[in-house]
Amino acid sequence: MSAYQSWGRYPRVEQDARLLYWRHQPLPLAGFDGPVLAYGQGRSYGDACLNAGGVLLPTRRLDHFIAFDPQEGLLRAEAGATLAEVLAFCLPRGFFLPVTPGTRYVTLGGAVHELRGVLTPLLSVAETLQSQAGEAAPDGRVLRRHLPRLLDRLHLLRDLLEDMRDFAQVTPRERTPELLAGLVGEALHLVQDWFAARHLDLSPIRFEIQVPDTIIVPVCRLPVLMAIRNLLKNAIESLATGPTTFRAGSVRVRAALVEAWAVLEIADTGAGLSPDELAEIQEFVPGRCSLKLHGSGFGLPIAHRKIRDHGGHLAIASALDEGTTITVTLPLGPQEDDSYADQRPTTVRTLRPGRR
Ligand SMILES: Cc1cc2nc3c(=O)[nH]c(=O)nc-3n(C[C@H](O)[C@H](O)[C@H](O)COP(=O)(O)OP(=O)(O)OC[C@H]3O[C@@H](n4cnc5c(N)ncnc54)[C@H](O)[C@@H]3O)c2cc1C
Repeated sequence: MSAYQSWGRYPRVEQDARLLYWRHQPLPLAGFDGPVLAYGQGRSYGDACLNAGGVLLPTRRLDHFIAFDPQEGLLRAEAGATLAEVLAFCLPRGFFLPVTPGTRYVTLGGAVHELRGVLTPLLSVAETLQSQAGEAAPDGRVLRRHLPRLLDRLHLLRDLLEDMRDFAQVTPRERTPELLAGLVGEALHLVQDWFAARHLDLSPIRFEIQVPDTIIVPVCRLPVLMAIRNLLKNAIESLATGPTTFRAGSVRVRAALVEAWAVLEIADTGAGLSPDELAEIQEFVPGRCSLKLHGSGFGLPIAHRKIRDHGGHLAIASALDEGTTITVTLPLGPQEDDSYADQRPTTVRTLRPGRR
């Protein structure tokens, strides 16, 4: 029995593990033509890293850093290095990873593999369509079944990549005076357009917008617009009853001035969160606690980061089956905390994704 398991330690399977030591050496597969699978840290849920009856290639010994360019923030490393090792190397040099999962004990190979979870079904649908294209009379039923899946996956992939980019992007230091009511109105339009483009009917949802048109906030427009849009999208999705249906409920947006702050409250009467879910979601780690049907798990962490970059705060109150209220506070003038965005490029920079 191999000692190589997945995070849940189940199932236990027989597999022949052949360790990799040097990246230039040929794979130790002479005479074997069965199924072969790479193994990182075994932190994947389920059996993604198990290969019953086949050969497993543990990669942990392939943990060397190959090159580092401090000007570009570009690190080349072997696939078996863990995010913890990358952080131990790059943090003292003033760099941080643009995106991190909920555990740092995963290998680079295992982390990159995650995108394959989206790409693999895409490939299989594309292969089905290709085989139909070769038929004299393509089967309309097959096309009708597979093309929507293909489009759905492509949208998902595009959204995911955009979210990753938005999360990693540093907030510019420029601030312009913006009408809060204008930002909320535009964010609501963006979000309603997003649902309309997917033919999702939001008519059961009542929107109550009470934002005085006297509140002006000094912000970098796009990141704050993005933050409000994400929070509204989450509020709407909390009322989903299925992939395309929503139940009756409300999304209420209110704003007020409290001393030197603009306070914006986004409250829904949706599914709400249990205390455990609330605790997890308040860590603002992308990809965690994805309770939504259309989400990548980046929306709230992006909003939190963009608000924090403005010296603001984001607080969450939620009760299961009652709803969630997000309270965003934005300073009306420059704040000491706001220097975060100015300092980040010089103190802690993010490593860049490499080009092949
Ligand atoms: C506590 C915890 C928190 C987590 N939080 C998050 C999170 O916030 N966001 C998120 O997205 N995920 C999260 N995960 C999931 C985790 O990031 C993934 O499962 C990741 O793939 C695990 O990496 P690993 O090195 O352990 O890979 P393994 O579990 O060993 O392998 C995972 C898959 O990657 C493949 N693979 C591994 N190395 C290579 C390689 N060199 N070349 C090709 N394929 C390879 C394997 O064949 C397998 O299919 C979390 C997991 C845990 C346990």
